Amino acid sequence: MTSAKSSVFVITGPSGVGKGSLISGLRERIPSLQLSTSATTRKPRGGEADGVDYHFLEPEEFDRRIAAGEFLEYADYSGNRYGTLRSEVEGRIAAGHPVVLEIEVQGARQVRDTMPAAVQVFIAPPGHDSLRSRLEGRGTDNPEAIKARLAVAEEELLARDEFQHQVVNDDLERATTELEAIVRDKLSQSPG
Ligand code: ADP
Ligand code: 5GP
Repeated sequence: MTSAKSSVFVITGPSGVGKGSLISGLRERIPSLQLSTSATTRKPRGGEADGVDYHFLEPEEFDRRIAAGEFLEYADYSGNRYGTLRSEVEGRIAAGHPVVLEIEVQGARQVRDTMPAAVQVFIAPPGHDSLRSRLEGRGTDNPEAIKARLAVAEEELLARDEFQHQVVNDDLERATTELEAIVRDKLSQSPG
C-alpha cells in the first residue's frame, strides 16, 4: 500500500473539550486506527507513562529534535512544547495504517499546510461553561493551569471554522458516532 492511500486524521480543539475521550471511543469502534504518541516538555501527570501517553522530553532535547527536523509539527502551549514526531507518523503511513493525531490548533494549522490531504476535525464544546466544568471534573490540572487553558481556549474557539469538519461534543456517544462516520467515509474512499 502506498502512502498516497493512507489516511491521516487530525483531531483538534480546546483542552477539556473531549478529544481524548472521543478518540478512545473511536479506536474501540475502528481498531485499525493508530494513534501517534506526541512528544512534550510537560511533566507527566500521575499515571502517565513515558512512551505511552507521551514521549516526555527535557526542553533541550525537544529543541535538539526541532533543529534536527524531527517534527512534523510542534507548538508552544500553556508554557510547554508539544509536537508530533515524523517517526510516529511516517512508518505507519508507509505500512498503510490510518493514523490519528490529537493536537492543539497551532499544530493542526501546520499539518493543514504540510499535509493538505489529512482530514481535519475541530471538536467544539456544547456551551461556554462546559470546558471549565470538564477540566475541573477531569481533576488533572490545578486552578491556575485551568485558568491558563481556558484563556488559550478563547482563541482556539475562534479557529473553529478554519477546519473541514466540526463536531460538537455534547453527548459523548452521539459525538463519537458523528466522528466515526467522518472517519469511515474517508477510509471507504482510501482504505488504509
Ligand atoms: P481533551 O482530551 O480534549 O483535553 P478529555 O477527553 O480529557 O478532553 O475530556 C475532558 C473531561 O471531560 C474528561 O473528564 C471527560 O471524561 C469529560 N468529557 C468528555 N466528553 C464529555 C461529554 N460529551 N460530556 C461530559 N463530559 C465529557
Ligand atoms: P495536555 O497537557 O492536556 O496533555 O495537552 C495540552 C494540549 O496539547 C491539548 O490540546 C493536546 O491536544 C495538545 N497536544 C498534545 N500533543 C500534541 C502535539 O503533538 N502537537 C500539538 N501541536 N499539540 C499537542
